[in-house]
Amino acid sequence: MKRYDVVVVGGGIMGSATAWWLARSGARTLLLERFHIGHDRGSSHGSSRIFRLSYPDSGYVRMAQESLKLWRQAETEVGEELLVTTGGLDLGPGIEANHAALRECGARSEMLSESELAQRFQFLSHDGPGLLQPDSGFVRAERAWAAFQVLARGHGAELCEETVVESIEQSNDGAVVHTAAESIECSACVVTAGAWARELLVGAGVELETRPTRETVSYFRYEGPLPPTIAEWVTPLRYALPAPGLGLKAGEHLAGPTADPGEIRTVDDASIERISKWLAALYPGVDGKPHHTETCLYTNTRDENFVLERYGSVVVGSPCSGHGFKFAPLIGKRLAELALEQ
Ligand SMILES: Cc1cc2nc3c(=O)[nH]c(=O)nc-3n(C[C@H](O)[C@H](O)[C@H](O)COP(=O)(O)OP(=O)(O)OC[C@H]3O[C@@H](n4cnc5c(N)ncnc54)[C@H](O)[C@@H]3O)c2cc1C
Repeated sequence: MKRYDVVVVGGGIMGSATAWWLARSGARTLLLERFHIGHDRGSSHGSSRIFRLSYPDSGYVRMAQESLKLWRQAETEVGEELLVTTGGLDLGPGIEANHAALRECGARSEMLSESELAQRFQFLSHDGPGLLQPDSGFVRAERAWAAFQVLARGHGAELCEETVVESIEQSNDGAVVHTAAESIECSACVVTAGAWARELLVGAGVELETRPTRETVSYFRYEGPLPPTIAEWVTPLRYALPAPGLGLKAGEHLAGPTADPGEIRTVDDASIERISKWLAALYPGVDGKPHHTETCLYTNTRDENFVLERYGSVVVGSPCSGHGFKFAPLIGKRLAELALEQ
């Protein structure tokens, strides 16, 4: 039987970032992915994700500050820009809490009155103040996903695509990972299988309380100065961000139905209608009819916090709840540390 120090199950952004850190630290690493890298059936596809420091909770602000440094490290190692700084704007009720958390962590931020907002961002229309965080922006998601793969392989990680892990067994000296073709031994197994993780972990004796939902995103034609990323803190939260080559991407956070990752993907027409109306009002110069729509899976915990835990020889990484991407290099580092703990 083949043996590795660590087998990572699931090659989305989190598994790929974990494989980078593992291989970088010299661990013999194998990454198994049921589809191909860059596929659109999980949570990590698409051209961009919001990177924001702004959270109402200082713990997340600190994580974002740490992640920013690690994104820059990844960029230096891969020789490519992954995180584009455009500034981030928070709108709507409760942004004072974000302002307070940013200040507590020493992060730059500026509360703009309605007229200052209108003057600073003439292409936007919003009734009310806005919180500007200049270090926020967006991650080039597809490129980041590919970059972690390049980095992981560069450090010696092996990757098998189109390989479904059927079960994981904990053993006396680690774990055994079973695919249709073979069984592979490892000292630790990291499960970053997104919406598929809960079912897969049952066999390894780990109970993961997550609920996948299918979320809809829309893309709108936009030609103008690179705008800030926007989060409007209403329920459900609405967001808009640049999507390189596709204009603007916009969606509602945690508004989709409970989903089975294997089902046929259907967009939510009501969500598209709501977000189109919102975007057209926010960006008066933009055609409020999306030119493209798609779905993406969230894997949610009850409190929207992440699961990053070790259970015996199995490490679980379920950092989604719709806001994990920005932390990928930090989460990959943490999962790698957990896997290498003796
Ligand atoms: C619409 C949408 C918008 C979002 N916007 C933002 C944002 O603006 N900012 C932000 O920070 N975050 C955002 N997120 C969240 C972020 O995208 C996720 O946190 C992140 O992509 C989760 O990555 P993952 O690797 O855990 O999951 P996935 O990308 O789903 O990866 C899991 C992988 O495991 C593989 N797999 C599953 N089962 C097996 C198996 N048995 N064997 C082998 N492989 C297996 C799957 O094929 C998949 O590739 C958004 C998410 C969505 C859906």
